Amino acid sequence: MKFSNRAMNVKPSATVGVSNKAKQMIRNGIDVINLGIGEPDFTTPKVITDAAIDAIQHGKTSFYTPASGLPELKTAIANRIRMDYGVSYQPQQISVANGAKMALYVLMQALVDQDDEVLLPQPSWVSYSQQVELAGGKPVLVATNDHFKITIDSLNEALTTKTTLLILNSPANPTGTVYSKDELQAIGRWAVDHGLLIISDDIYGKLIYNGQKFASLIQCGDEIAESTILVNGVSKAYSMTGWRIGYVAAAPQIISKVNAILSHSTGNPATVSQYAAIAAFKGDQTNVEQMRQAFETRLNTIYPLLQAVPGFHIEQKPQGAFYLFPNVEKAMAIVGVDTSLELVTLLLNEAHVAVVDGAAFGLPGYLRLSYATGLEDLKTAISRINTFMTQYV
Ligand code: PLP
Repeated sequence: MKFSNRAMNVKPSATVGVSNKAKQMIRNGIDVINLGIGEPDFTTPKVITDAAIDAIQHGKTSFYTPASGLPELKTAIANRIRMDYGVSYQPQQISVANGAKMALYVLMQALVDQDDEVLLPQPSWVSYSQQVELAGGKPVLVATNDHFKITIDSLNEALTTKTTLLILNSPANPTGTVYSKDELQAIGRWAVDHGLLIISDDIYGKLIYNGQKFASLIQCGDEIAESTILVNGVSKAYSMTGWRIGYVAAAPQIISKVNAILSHSTGNPATVSQYAAIAAFKGDQTNVEQMRQAFETRLNTIYPLLQAVPGFHIEQKPQGAFYLFPNVEKAMAIVGVDTSLELVTLLLNEAHVAVVDGAAFGLPGYLRLSYATGLEDLKTAISRINTFMTQYV
């Protein structure tokens, strides 16, 4: 059978892969704790599910919406952006897609040409590099400092005449790093000065801990905001991963290309999900804060527990998102394996804890553990990892 070069080269998502394997083991009766995927464990707030039920009961299911989303949803998103960021977008500057993942995929299709170079922090979310490659572009990893942050120096080193785009994600997956407004200002200025567009993936923007402040590139003045494409969605903040709603907010000429591609690919995001998202963006945001607090409690509980595991070292305490990203090079030496992937396999098969190999994010020698799981399970998972490691020391 002949496949396209695209299909031959694409790697399946490592986070989805680990999680599927863990779910299969659970179905087989094995008591695996799945810290593999970024899926908040809270149920979607009732006001949101009620809006979806209402949409179903009122027959709002038997029509296509505009490919880029319902006008009411775009208005709700523009209002939410105004409230959260203090920045104004017109509804025609917004496009809704089936999750932030699809929004990013379509953006790469709209912006990246053959051999264009796209700058990504090292480490960064697994799908960016694959989406760039699917569009024919070349992902270029930008080195990060001790705080897992890209700097102007590392950007200068990665820049070539083929660079067209930079992707920034704060709070970041997998490290939980949060960029300050000053840092964003400097990076945004650098991008504008070099004629680059920036995608600001703010999907974890509501999940910031221990008094840190969220800032976004779109708040760094008109010039930087005009070169910035905002991506966000409902999955993480409203515990709505299964509803598949994300959005792009950008200059109208970018949105019109995104919309054209969406009109030939997804058609439209599920109508019921769009009504649910309207309720999420418009409604009382108390639930969002309650979930944030629960994540913060988990972080502060499990961070010292994981730090105490032999061979595990978290170089930087996360300030946002819901992941821990320990360096495990010492653990690999203790256990006697050469790669972090081998450690992942041992942890799954012997400790029955699913985690993701840092190599999937461009940084081998690290693991990613998601704490979007109940506190008791988290404590048990870390105790299992600790018991596993202790037998070797
Ligand atoms: N961006 C980042 C950094 C993520 O970690 C994820 C999900 O894991 C997404 C985007 C995609 O989110 P969605 O569920 O809206 O597709």
